[in-house]
Amino acid sequence: MPEGDVVWRTARQLHTALAGQALTRTDFRVPRFATTDLSGRTVREVVSRGKHALARVDGGNGGLTIHTHLRMDGYWRIRPAATAVVPSHDHRIRLVLANSDWHAVGYLLSMVEVVPTARENAIVGHLGPDLLGPDWDAAEAARRLAANPARPIGEALLDQRNLAGIGNFYRAELLFLRGISPWRPVSDAGDLTAIADLAKRLLEANKDRAVQVTTGNPAPGQEAWVYGRAGRPCRRCGTRIRTDRQSGPAPTVRISFWCPSCQP
Ligand SMILES: [Zn+2]
Repeated sequence: MPEGDVVWRTARQLHTALAGQALTRTDFRVPRFATTDLSGRTVREVVSRGKHALARVDGGNGGLTIHTHLRMDGYWRIRPAATAVVPSHDHRIRLVLANSDWHAVGYLLSMVEVVPTARENAIVGHLGPDLLGPDWDAAEAARRLAANPARPIGEALLDQRNLAGIGNFYRAELLFLRGISPWRPVSDAGDLTAIADLAKRLLEANKDRAVQVTTGNPAPGQEAWVYGRAGRPCRRCGTRIRTDRQSGPAPTVRISFWCPSCQP
């Protein structure tokens, strides 16, 4: 599942392919923007903000921003223009951005919209400090987490208003590494700044690679402590890893993984 590190890397790849060049073709395959055509405009930059990607293009009054979100299944494919073939009837394609060198095709994006860059705040202004952003601030993230002390920590960490970039994988791994049950209330979760700092380190360590690793071992099946390991023995103590549904930001419900011995 794409989390902050994947979106950061995707935005960087899009930036490398598209920034500084004029778009030669755009194809918005979402009803609301089906007639939007941004060809001829130059892409200024592509950045990530939490799990959102923002492609900023030239245009009157400060330009426009193409906002996309990968949610659960979205991804991009970037191909050299010379060899790229974009199927016209692939129902998974939501957006095509092309220039004379590259074709970037967004599949299964859960959100595709164009807004004035000056109004980006309406899209991402609610987000807490971005774990991989220039404004990262662990103390501020801790302050936001602490504002709702009775909430289970596993739920609070997924709330992008507290800190932006964590999904199900890092939530599970982070809480294992800190020895905290995802069901413990925030007020009883210990040092919140240390939790936020560790989240930052995990995403930083993984942002340049395709496989997310928290154990230090990238071998297949060895990458994670608890995520995706329900019923398997804990790598540290041998206890069976447990799993259960835990609500995330409404309306989603996400699955938690934890070791009941290591994470009391
Ligand atoms: Zn254990």
